[in-house]
Amino acid sequence: DLRIARIASAIRAIPDFPKPGIMFQDITTLLLDPEAFKDSIDLFVERYKDKNISVVAGIEARGFIFGPPIALAIGAKFVPMRKPGKLPGEVISEEYSLEYGTDVMEMHVGAVQEGDRALVVDDLIATGGTLGAAISLLERVGVTVVECACLIELHELKGRENIHAAGAANSLRIS
Ligand code: 5GP
Repeated sequence: DLRIARIASAIRAIPDFPKPGIMFQDITTLLLDPEAFKDSIDLFVERYKDKNISVVAGIEARGFIFGPPIALAIGAKFVPMRKPGKLPGEVISEEYSLEYGTDVMEMHVGAVQEGDRALVVDDLIATGGTLGAAISLLERVGVTVVECACLIELHELKGRENIHAAGAANSLRIS
């Protein structure tokens, strides 16, 4: 698909961000290219429009950029999965491991219902820990996670394997 090359070339890599030794994949340059940004949304919409998905769960912060246009196009609701202390209503939380230490992800109680079918959206999968936490949170309340959708996959970290361990999801590799 020619669109994938256009998307890949619109994403830039910035060395030593946020700390030395890290090559940060920056999707903000994709957002400056309306055709490539639209291609990225269209590819996901084509893949998910007939999968009976009732909820798109977007992970803070970049899942909030790609998730809502996908949700609108496939006729699903959008649910934000946020860092702790950001959501004003009652939440359920999931703690997960980072390279150093732990983090917490939160979702509003009542945002999803048992039997909902979810697509989890983020910009990038590295170790898979973040997506794994989102899957666990959704599965705890009886939601089926159909798939996880990311633009970028850091293959060498084998995050896909953690996703399989945590739930029944795959990630789409766009670049
Ligand atoms: P994981 O939990 O899979 O190890 O890390 C994935 C999370 O970290 C995602 O929420 C993603 O947005 C963020 N992340 C890690 N490295 C990068 C990067 O190089 N670029 C971007 N845009 N996000 C990253």
